[in-house]
Amino acid sequence: MNIHEYQGKEVLKQYGVLVPEGKVAFTVDEAVEAAKELGTSVVVVKAQIHAGGRGKAGGVKVAKNLDEVKAYASEILGKTLITHQTGPEGKEVKRLLIEQGCDIKKEYYVGVVVDRGTGRVVLMASEEGGTEIEEVAAHSPEKIFKEIVDPAIGLQAFQAKRLAFNINIPKELVNKAAGFMIALYTAFVDKDCSIAEINPLVVTGDGNVMALDAKLNFDSNALYRHADILALRDLDEEDEKEIQASKFDLSYIALDGNIGCMVNGAGLAMATMDIIKYYGGDPANFLDVGGGATKEKVTEAFKIILSDEKVKGIFVNIFGGIMRCDVIAEGVIAAAKELGLDRPLVVRLEGTNVELGKKMLNESGLNIVAADSMADGAQKIVALVK
Ligand code: ADP
Ligand code: MG
Repeated sequence: MNIHEYQGKEVLKQYGVLVPEGKVAFTVDEAVEAAKELGTSVVVVKAQIHAGGRGKAGGVKVAKNLDEVKAYASEILGKTLITHQTGPEGKEVKRLLIEQGCDIKKEYYVGVVVDRGTGRVVLMASEEGGTEIEEVAAHSPEKIFKEIVDPAIGLQAFQAKRLAFNINIPKELVNKAAGFMIALYTAFVDKDCSIAEINPLVVTGDGNVMALDAKLNFDSNALYRHADILALRDLDEEDEKEIQASKFDLSYIALDGNIGCMVNGAGLAMATMDIIKYYGGDPANFLDVGGGATKEKVTEAFKIILSDEKVKGIFVNIFGGIMRCDVIAEGVIAAAKELGLDRPLVVRLEGTNVELGKKMLNESGLNIVAADSMADGAQKIVALVK
């Protein structure tokens, strides 16, 4: 789960990470009021969307007086920002962060991630702050430094200092920067983050080390133990279909293609997407209905797929182990009856109660193409949507 920058900064503040004073605003009036309350000569008006690259897209503006705050807030609120992370359709700005202007001496990058290669939490840092880290990795990888954390003892002070030295933090500020990194790491572990990225971390004119931006992602599987974080969820930023799916505890991720997939088990779902690609098609989603799905859950899953206008055909690929094929058939039939099935449907069923499931589908009057195997099903649905 993602949260907004201003929320991320609130979380980090609890761990002693230094951030500029700021306030969230939902309207232009609130923005002006917030700037008055901050009382600094320079304030920054920042679009709050769940995507980076806002600066380049015109979503971050420095205002030198209240008139400018008003002008920038009016300009940015309601605007659709298109950044390299929003996709071509962009994201509408509904919230602003009104923040103290910071006297930046130099910008750096610090990120905490889970590295699957080492199976460890890794701190990455670079003196090329402000720019996208992907660019730095592509053009000057030698400028990215890493520290691998041993989970038994956590991030050690010497590691944080080494990282600070490596990215050329001024000597007199190395201790502050190391403290910043340890606080960031502690927040990451404590709150079950999957990413904590500070770009830029800045050294200020008055000798402080601050987070000017904050991107925190959280492991959804751990949210049950972080009610405070879950409360920060902004449904406006999420895909409608994914929200619906999460209500029914379905693992659903919307993709760009046109073949809707309904599968049980994450591994089979991944393999199904692969085989669709292999035969020249494009999946419209990842969907795992889970092991012991009920008829209601299957019905809901099928409805979510049908509600996607991009979907030109559907491939149901079920291996009934714990899941029973007749339950799948029931769900498919119920959803198709309710919403009407106006697109080709290929079904491959195997496993528990397969004969009954097939019989139910055959007698349902629905226009279903049966497949003998996964490869057969994938080829059939790819041909039907072309
Ligand atoms: P994004 O990464 O989405 O472009 P950032 O929050 O990193 O957004 O802001 C972009 C740039 O704007 C920063 O690199 C920094 O130079 C500047 N900036 C952001 N916040 C402030 C602030 N409070 N004071 C001064 N400059 C800022
Ligand atoms: Mg940034």
